[in-house]
Amino acid sequence: KKGEKVAVAASGGKDSTVLAYILKLLNDRHDYGLDLVLLSIDEGITGYRDDSLETVKQNRDDYQIPLKILSYDELYGWTMDRIVEQIGRKNNCTFCGVFRRQALDRGAKLLQVDSIATGHNADDIAETVLMNILRGDTARLGRCTAIRTGSGEDTIARVKPLKYTYEKEIVMYAHYKKLVYFSTECVFAPNAYRGHARAFLKDLERVRPSVIMDIIHSGEQLKFKETVKKPERGTCGRCGFVSSQQPCKACILLEGLNRGLPKLGIGKKSKGDRMRAKQDQELALRERANLVKNDF
Ligand code: SF4
Repeated sequence: KKGEKVAVAASGGKDSTVLAYILKLLNDRHDYGLDLVLLSIDEGITGYRDDSLETVKQNRDDYQIPLKILSYDELYGWTMDRIVEQIGRKNNCTFCGVFRRQALDRGAKLLQVDSIATGHNADDIAETVLMNILRGDTARLGRCTAIRTGSGEDTIARVKPLKYTYEKEIVMYAHYKKLVYFSTECVFAPNAYRGHARAFLKDLERVRPSVIMDIIHSGEQLKFKETVKKPERGTCGRCGFVSSQQPCKACILLEGLNRGLPKLGIGKKSKGDRMRAKQDQELALRERANLVKNDF
């Protein structure tokens, strides 16, 4: 809406570059009255994020949109390079994904924006629908196709303006408009699970070209029984950010790293729950002894 402040989650990749370019273009052309800002998260990945941030800085100058960069190092005291040193390459994307999600919320709060626009394209959404079906994750399945999520008081809304735009269209648009973007893959990729979903989708697309939109449409039409348990959105008692569990996943992962127990919060739910319960007991004891220090 006119007057709203929107942070474009900018990675320097093709999707967020096209998104920033188009939002700026339409905002100027049609006088939308949006206050646009670029928000980048520096995960601390040498040879990947440091280079892609240079592209974001160029976007800032080319499109004349202010840029805010927040790093995992300043927010959590860890870089992904150091996290991978600790945990190896197996669960790195879990740490990275959980921290990024919260880092965007932190950045958005800092910048006092009304919503965060992300560059998820149609291919990404179809992959996510498939992954959530394969994992049986009904909670995420229910919300992953929404074009706008989290408009509650404590949540900063996420919007996906490119939700119906094919990846191919984005690549062609960036090419013909000669947009500068960064296309190298993360040095800690691949995220194997998403990679399988992507390969499967590409195979399906060969025999049924409309499959991406069909899967998105299926995801949008899904209805869940009232009896299906939904996670309750609340606020993490430790860091104060949105979470459906206490403490939030980011706080558990961070605690694990700081205590030299990086597997805390990773793995099967039941095991994670057991560890969390044990950790809560320990924390309660420490709290009683006034030893708990807020990490943020
Ligand atoms: Fe982070 Fe994994 Fe993506 Fe690399 S591939 S940026 S480690 S989530």
